[in-house]
Amino acid sequence: MGSSSILVIYTGGTIGMVQDPETGELSPVNFVEISKKIPELMRFDLNIETFSFVPPLDSAEIDPEIWIRMAAVIKENYSLFDGFVILHGTDTMAYSASALSFLLENLDKPVIFTGSQLPLGMLRTDGKENLITAIEIAAAKENNTPIVPEVCIFFQNRLFRGNRTTKYNVEYFNAFRSDNYPHLAETGVNIRYNRSAIIYPPETGKLKAHTRMNSNIAILKIFPGITRELVYAIYNIPELRAVIMETYGAGNAPTLPWFISLTRGAVSKGIIILNVTQCATGSVDMTQYKTGKQLQDIGVSSGYDITIEAALAKMMFLLAQSTSNKEIRALFNESLRGEIN
Ligand code: ASP
Repeated sequence: MGSSSILVIYTGGTIGMVQDPETGELSPVNFVEISKKIPELMRFDLNIETFSFVPPLDSAEIDPEIWIRMAAVIKENYSLFDGFVILHGTDTMAYSASALSFLLENLDKPVIFTGSQLPLGMLRTDGKENLITAIEIAAAKENNTPIVPEVCIFFQNRLFRGNRTTKYNVEYFNAFRSDNYPHLAETGVNIRYNRSAIIYPPETGKLKAHTRMNSNIAILKIFPGITRELVYAIYNIPELRAVIMETYGAGNAPTLPWFISLTRGAVSKGIIILNVTQCATGSVDMTQYKTGKQLQDIGVSSGYDITIEAALAKMMFLLAQSTSNKEIRALFNESLRGEIN
């Protein structure tokens, strides 16, 4: 690993926060302060450099513009480093990792997101372990090629494909899950890579960092008692291009005549509707029940086993790349970055 160089990009999040002694509130501070708390970093036989977003952000503040900046930082530094670690708050980490997986086309180096549930300055912090292992994974090579050339999240003792993860735990250190895809690595005494689950790009072209996302989308979560007013209001948002419909089970929604008629109307005026299940595990299959089949008949697209975070990121990405609904709908049937099975 001697000659590897890693760029640690600090965007903010709990990992780098300090607690106000009076109010107890956590807020982000700069990375120079943080790195003083981890003298272990000096023991790596690696060249580690850092880049900080100013100001550092609680990840609840992160938006598509910041995803584009993160992708640009990677692009600008791509030839100088062997791997990248992004320190990020856990709240929206799964969204950011999903977005970066789409924005970075032809990626062939590791981009490892990590953070922590307790700030680095706290005695029981999980941040030190997460950061040190994320750096080790970002630098890991075999035959001079990176072992994990993907956008990932490393947390506690697992490495996940970024666009397969969801934050599910506020309390415990194992904050993330990837219910529809195996872990890319597990760490204990050793780091055990699950090579058959990792995507090794064929001969990739040059890295391309896309610079556009389109946020004219909505998420419509179906629930018992959902009203016509709510559904009507969503489908009539000015400039709306797409709706991610979070349905029950295998992709089912009520057969209420007003619901079907509003949804049919939305599709016919050119709004793309993507069906994503509210369940954490499994896939949409609109052929299973009448309540799913009617959506398919109207022209609603299947999200298969995509997470809500990846669906949102992929939709924003595709809407910004293409104006053709036909093309976008076709691309939702394909895995672009390993986001669906
Ligand atoms: N609110 C914090 C954030 O997402 C939580 C965390 O980092 O775990 O920035």
